[in-house]
Amino acid sequence: MTEKETNPKNDMVDDLEDLKNYTDELADFLPVAFCVVNPLNCILEVNNFFEVLSGYEKVEAVGKRVENLFLEREEINSLIEEVKKEKGKVEKELTLITKKEETVPVDVSALARESEDGFVGFFLTIMDVTEKREIEVKMERELAKKTKELEEKAKQMEDSRSALLNILEDVDKSYKEAEKERSKTAAIIENFIDGMMFFGADHVLSIVNPKAEDFFDIKARDVTGRDLRELSTFPTLKSLINFIKGDGKIADLFREELKINEDFYLEITTTGIEEDGEHLGTLIHIHDITREKRIEKIKSEFVSVAAHQLRTPLSGIKWTLETFLEEVSEEKGKLNEDEETLIRKAYDANERMVNLVNDLLNVSRIEEGRYIYEPEVVDILDFLNPILETYKEAIENKDNLSFKVNKVKDSFPKVKIDAEKIGIVVQNFLDNAIKYTDEGEVVLSINMIDDNIRISVQDEGVGIPEEQQERLFNKFFRAENVIRKDVEGSGLGLFIAKNIVEAHNGEIGFESTEGEGSIFYFTLPIHKGKEKGFIEEF
Ligand code: ADP
Repeated sequence: MTEKETNPKNDMVDDLEDLKNYTDELADFLPVAFCVVNPLNCILEVNNFFEVLSGYEKVEAVGKRVENLFLEREEINSLIEEVKKEKGKVEKELTLITKKEETVPVDVSALARESEDGFVGFFLTIMDVTEKREIEVKMERELAKKTKELEEKAKQMEDSRSALLNILEDVDKSYKEAEKERSKTAAIIENFIDGMMFFGADHVLSIVNPKAEDFFDIKARDVTGRDLRELSTFPTLKSLINFIKGDGKIADLFREELKINEDFYLEITTTGIEEDGEHLGTLIHIHDITREKRIEKIKSEFVSVAAHQLRTPLSGIKWTLETFLEEVSEEKGKLNEDEETLIRKAYDANERMVNLVNDLLNVSRIEEGRYIYEPEVVDILDFLNPILETYKEAIENKDNLSFKVNKVKDSFPKVKIDAEKIGIVVQNFLDNAIKYTDEGEVVLSINMIDDNIRISVQDEGVGIPEEQQERLFNKFFRAENVIRKDVEGSGLGLFIAKNIVEAHNGEIGFESTEGEGSIFYFTLPIHKGKEKGFIEEF
């Protein structure tokens, strides 16, 4: 055993040496910058990491005043003050200034060193917190972003909430308004002076107002909710339902007359109700026309009675005047020329009266459904020729008028007609053409259109003002241009003609231009042995 080996002092030195090496190694190994500072704030010792972080080599660092290493002078001074005073551990976030004068965010901890003599300096650890700060900044930014997003979301939700509330408010308002409108409409329907019914698109009755209840002696509660088929089993509703029932739907009716019984007439109008192109149902408007019908009947009875009463005296006058005229022609010189002219004028005027009375009688018969037809199968040319002969003479006797007959064929299929009545129609057309034409040609044409014979009378006369044309077939209607011209007429001829033609299942119509002329026409279906409709009843 050597002295060295056995000397405890040497052992201690060795141990201290080992300890120093150990602490140096430890200090160099630590990933934290570290320095030892004396009470005058001068650096005594630094580790490797300090060199790396600050860029100062150990020799440069040793002896440097520690406060010169940091940006925040006041802060580092207060840290040092504190550590000296408190003699414990003090920490701060500071900024390190490297040798290259770059700044590095650091966490600084100071720990007082003490010996038996008291304070002998302090340790300073400096930790690079760049990454930590970056993460913090990033996190703060992220947090701010998220907070902003959340705030926006919250705002959006708030907006949606108030929008929703507004919508709810609007809905509530609209609902109240709709309710108000609904009760207004209901009140109108309830108190309407005419009857009203509403059928849904499925033909189920949903509304019946009190007036309709009265008309049909029904109660709304008994009939609503029922469809057309079920309703037709109600005896009092049957005639209405049959009247409005169309082909798989409710028929389109405009002021159509429905006779319930002799003393009760209704006028029915149906209106399809649509919204945005969707069929919602049909409104039935029911108007009581019993009073009008009664007045019409009284009027027509009066006309009929008056016309009948007039016929006898007119026939008497006709007979007297005819006798006069016959005598005149037999025994010349009995009357002088003036007297003869006067009697002829009286005769013509009487003839016009007779015609008017006949027209009035025909109108009242038509209206009362008493216009009797006596049909026979005839050849249209055989029937027309005698009429045309008479008119040829009459027209050619008038200055400035000529007459032409246009037949597309020499023979036509037979027709089943009441020749006398169809004669009235042809005569009415020809009379009008002559009356309302000052000069020009009157052309009567006969031709075939499909299974119909078409007879037309064309003239070059005064024509009919366009705005009055739709009223032409109305009873007593006369256009203002002929009234102005003071041409005589009653406005009954076309009304009668229309009824006659339609009773024969034909069509009547015209085309006209005021000042240029008119063409009036009617058709007759050819006789096939078994005609349909009215003609069958002949
Ligand atoms: P009336 O001739 O006796 O007045 P109608 O019923 O025959 O009665 O005719 C009704 C009206 O139609 C006439 O008043 C006239 O205004 C018009 N009208 C009929 N035929 C013609 C025609 N050929 N040219 C011009 N107007 C006509």
